[in-house]
Amino acid sequence: MTVDILTIGEALVEVMRTDIDQPLDQPGPFVGPYPSGAPFIFAVQAARLGLKSAAIGSVGADAFGDCLLNQLDADGVVADGIRQLPDQTTGIAFVAYKADGSRNFVFSLGAGGHLTADMLKPALFDGLRCFHLMGSTLSMSESVLTVCREAMQMAVDAGALISFDPNLRPELLSPDEARIAFAPFIAAADIFLPTEAELLQLTNASSTQQAIDDLLRARPERTIIVTRGADGCSVYTSKDRMDMPGYAVDEIDPTGAGDCFDAAFITGVLEEMPMGEATQLANACGALAVTEKGPMAGAKSRADVERFMRSQR
Ligand code: ATP
Ligand code: MG
Repeated sequence: MTVDILTIGEALVEVMRTDIDQPLDQPGPFVGPYPSGAPFIFAVQAARLGLKSAAIGSVGADAFGDCLLNQLDADGVVADGIRQLPDQTTGIAFVAYKADGSRNFVFSLGAGGHLTADMLKPALFDGLRCFHLMGSTLSMSESVLTVCREAMQMAVDAGALISFDPNLRPELLSPDEARIAFAPFIAAADIFLPTEAELLQLTNASSTQQAIDDLLRARPERTIIVTRGADGCSVYTSKDRMDMPGYAVDEIDPTGAGDCFDAAFITGVLEEMPMGEATQLANACGALAVTEKGPMAGAKSRADVERFMRSQR
């Protein structure tokens, strides 16, 4: 079994408030569980676009774990790197939405935070084409950070591209701590996918352009994609800069936009699409991700994404 895209991180289910402006500190209705966890949303989107994807993570031996595993099975995501821990419960994210579009979370990481070096099965890295990491995973604990560094080295040794999305979560790690913790991953990234705010927070640069120049000087063959929410994204290489406007959609649930965008961009790179095409595919998957409630519901199949792109021309 050779995997195209591998990622690692927090396996979760999501349980969300049924309506806007229902705070999490008072009784009220929830809906869920929905299969979730940023690395798993990423893996599912990659699979729905047609790649062989895998994710490394832990769930509990409980119904919530089955909820996530059943979804991965339905999508053909390779589950060899996932273990069910008998003495842990599956991680849960409780989410409330505010009228201004912002979100509040209560995380119970449970099994989701248990990542150990023995989970890095060499067979998952053999022939691997891209290893994708996210800062939210690196922010969980010092031991997870160490495991992720080891995983990245295995991917480098296997000749895979390294892709990194900082997904800065200040509740988990301050920007100052993240700058230090993420530095080896940013240095190694062939594909780097920050938001503009993350780019400035994670470098010592005084402007976006200076940050880009520094990153390209350090690794001239890399690609940097700065995502800008509804405004789309900008792509930077040593040769080129390209701004790609976003698709206009009604935002229902922002969870997963970045993960679906990342999976689609990497799919485009692995399929050797021209940069403009890969970027459009990524913008389309990011836009579609926000149009449905439920973290994985907006991750569309290849056919659905292509139909959407044709309808928007
Ligand atoms: P996340 O919260 O998932 O980490 P992010 O902040 O990392 O998201 P964004 O820049 O918000 O990432 O979104 C990633 C991409 O998804 C954007 O570049 C864009 O292509 C698409 N996207 C996000 N939100 C919207 C939207 N409201 N309308 C259209 N496209 C969107
Ligand atoms: Mg993000």
